[in-house]
Amino acid sequence: NKHIIIKHAIDGLPTESDFELRSAPLVLSVAQGSKEVIVKNLFLSIDPYQLNRMKTSSSSQKTFAAAARIQPGQASFLLIIRIDAFGVGKVVVSGNEEFERDDVVVGLLAWEEYTVVRPGTTLTKVDPHEFPLSYHASILGTSGLTAYAGFYDICKPKKGEKVFVSAASGSVGSLVGQYAKLSGCYVVGCAGSKTKVDLLKEKLGFDDAFNYKEEPDLKSALRRYFPEGIDIYFDNVGSAMLDAAVANMNVFGRVAVCGAISEYADAGKRAALDMVDVIYKRITLRGFLSFDHLHVYAGFISSTSDHLRHGRMRAVEDISTGLESVPSAFAGLFRGDNVGKTLVQLTIV
Ligand code: NDP
Repeated sequence: NKHIIIKHAIDGLPTESDFELRSAPLVLSVAQGSKEVIVKNLFLSIDPYQLNRMKTSSSSQKTFAAAARIQPGQASFLLIIRIDAFGVGKVVVSGNEEFERDDVVVGLLAWEEYTVVRPGTTLTKVDPHEFPLSYHASILGTSGLTAYAGFYDICKPKKGEKVFVSAASGSVGSLVGQYAKLSGCYVVGCAGSKTKVDLLKEKLGFDDAFNYKEEPDLKSALRRYFPEGIDIYFDNVGSAMLDAAVANMNVFGRVAVCGAISEYADAGKRAALDMVDVIYKRITLRGFLSFDHLHVYAGFISSTSDHLRHGRMRAVEDISTGLESVPSAFAGLFRGDNVGKTLVQLTIV
């Protein structure tokens, strides 16, 4: 069973050489009644937050307490000795009466070819026929839920409001912008290249978009794009962009603090946050984690599936092939290599 490990704790930007592909024996059987299920992994979701779990314990404790630290040399999540990751797979052996061989499932899998899913770990059957299987790890997976819950539950949008999205061509950002357009908002996104900016304006329906790397002064750039101010900021990046957005927020503006990718690899980068501005403008800044919003899950799946069926939403995916491509797919998130959801496909389906 091939799997990926980290060779050492990673406290700065990750690179391919921080990882190693290893192989271990796998017995393709489970004890009857064990409730264990062996899944052949098809698509793995590659997510920036994992970097916070790869740091030395002193730095990871401060930045990320919500999941176990990944140990160099083996990596672990509770007792599963692999780097766990959300993904789509096919059941090959089942000791659990709820699953049969060949069921297509989504849940917490790992950076490996086969995952032994133990009782208590989330695993859900999906309909393999209506949408491409990859969608269950992207637009209909955790990225979709994050965008949906963050936008509707946290930002509480109203028609006509002005919305700003950072990392807008990425997995979560590209969906937030589309939900915002479907809600009748005015949406501007920022991204790190011309190709990404063109995608936002020409394919994803954003009203406007800009390359933040070409803007020497983020505050005045946002003033140009939002002459009437920002009502909602969906923050995927943190630090200077968060400061610039807060400076341009309207009274009673809302900020969904979804991610701070610019800070994950650089502990020295932090938002300065003008709290007097926050007070006088009565801004709500709210951090959130998608798994706290499972009450919207059914609504998220049914409405997003419906938008897909009627061509009102598009899934943008950046798929590389083979387990050995996981390190470059992961490191690429921090270089801005990806356009849309970063996935690794393990088996041709
Ligand atoms: P993306 O698909 O958006 O990929 C990451 C993108 O971030 C890159 O393509 C790059 O785009 C941008 N980026 C990388 N480094 C920097 C930097 N230093 N400054 C500014 N932008 C940078 O990832 P996701 O959509 O999966 O995740 C987006 C954010 O949401 C992350 O911060 C993630 O941790 C967070 N998240 C939070 C969840 C929650 O429950 N709260 C759940 C899932 C994700 P560009 O070329 O535009 O710079």
